[in-house]
Amino acid sequence: FWQHFNDEMRERFNEVAYNAWFKNTKPISYDENSRELKIAVQNPVAKGYWEKNLSSQLIQSAYGYAGIELLPTFQIEGDTSPERIVTPEPRYKIEEKISNRNEFTKNLRLNENYTFDNFVQGEGNKLAAGAALAVADSPGSFYNPLFIFGGVGLGKTHLMQAIGHQMLAERPNAKVVYIQSETFVNDFINSIKNKTQDKFREKYRTCDLLLVDDIQFFAKKEGIQEEFFHTFETLYNDQKQIVMTSDRLPTEIPDLSERLVSRFTWGLQVEITPPDLETRIAILSKKAEADGLTIDENTLDYIASQVDTNIRELEGALVKVQAHATIEKEDINVNLAREALTDLKLVQKNRGLQISKIQEVVANYFQTSTAELKGKKRVRQIVIPRQIAMYLSRELTDSSLPKIGQEFGGKDHTTVMHAYEKIDRQIKTDSEIKSAVFDLRQLLTH
Ligand code: ADP
Ligand code: MG
Repeated sequence: FWQHFNDEMRERFNEVAYNAWFKNTKPISYDENSRELKIAVQNPVAKGYWEKNLSSQLIQSAYGYAGIELLPTFQIEGDTSPERIVTPEPRYKIEEKISNRNEFTKNLRLNENYTFDNFVQGEGNKLAAGAALAVADSPGSFYNPLFIFGGVGLGKTHLMQAIGHQMLAERPNAKVVYIQSETFVNDFINSIKNKTQDKFREKYRTCDLLLVDDIQFFAKKEGIQEEFFHTFETLYNDQKQIVMTSDRLPTEIPDLSERLVSRFTWGLQVEITPPDLETRIAILSKKAEADGLTIDENTLDYIASQVDTNIRELEGALVKVQAHATIEKEDINVNLAREALTDLKLVQKNRGLQISKIQEVVANYFQTSTAELKGKKRVRQIVIPRQIAMYLSRELTDSSLPKIGQEFGGKDHTTVMHAYEKIDRQIKTDSEIKSAVFDLRQLLTH
């Protein structure tokens, strides 16, 4: 199978790329129980590229060609002749700190890229970035709590985690907690079930820095709000720093208790707004540089002008252009970028498209009801339409997985992920599903 995959890839890549990623890469062992396939790669760059770009293809190909499920892991060995390998400067120094993490933060997962160094400041996020820097410098003393709000993909999570990184870099013993608000909810519920409330409280009420992401999910959850209120009070009185993000102002979160709304206004509430063109170009150019890509100004300008509201999409656009260049074996220029981004335009054009509309059209098409799509029945006649509707919601709107889950009767985001991946696979193998998705896409986008 390895040979087959190599041949497949040799077709796809040009010679330089093929040699770089495959020539000195070989499988070393496969464990039938854990499905782990250990692969030796030549250098850190190759490791990074495999992890980021090739492992998913390997998984798919192994499954499609030989019916094997595998989980590739990579280790660096082999040819390391120094003159041919350009080891990049470590991009994110912060990572080293993880090894010296204290007992409290050893399970803390921060995205290593989300540092202040990697955050481009510009119109739209200057204030928020300034406030975040101030808080990281002197936590608990002013701007407490810091409340960062704004639309999807504008850098709220990035900034929030940057505060965590910075604090740990300066004070490795600091007790930092970062959580998605849903995790707080789940932890709390589990702590009641398992009678471990003391442990729960200890974790949240004794930290030095509490970062709660997307707090709008506390909407309408009274018990959680009550618990969070006490967490907040304890931390605040101990002059510990609290930082929250949300897609909207506290006053706009449905049924958020009065006392929380008022607590949240004690500190600073700062909005992040969409970046202007100049900032978008600066962000793109930083990402391109980090990925080792050379892209001329016109092309950067073109890509930045195509995506105007959401930085995550902007990054996605760059990845698309890069992938297109690899597949087409061409250099990156404006024409190539234009080709690569045609379907992105479709998403943008459909921005107004609502998940409810998708559900309606899908329900109609399969002669079922939107209630069934949102329900829990697991019979095939409903499961397939439901998964297709989730798939299309992911493809045609910019809603997050949790948001889609919510719209489908409060399902977990992993359910949506699973549905998406399943349909994505079946489109390639099952002609009925393929044509249904094709028809529905037509119906929804024309
Ligand atoms: P949000 O939490 O607001 O939805 P994220 O923080 O997840 O957005 O940001 C989305 C992506 O955009 C992340 O990959 C992040 O690194 C990147 N990003 C956002 N703002 C900036 C910025 N000012 N400079 C560099 N990258 C940014
Ligand atoms: Mg976020």
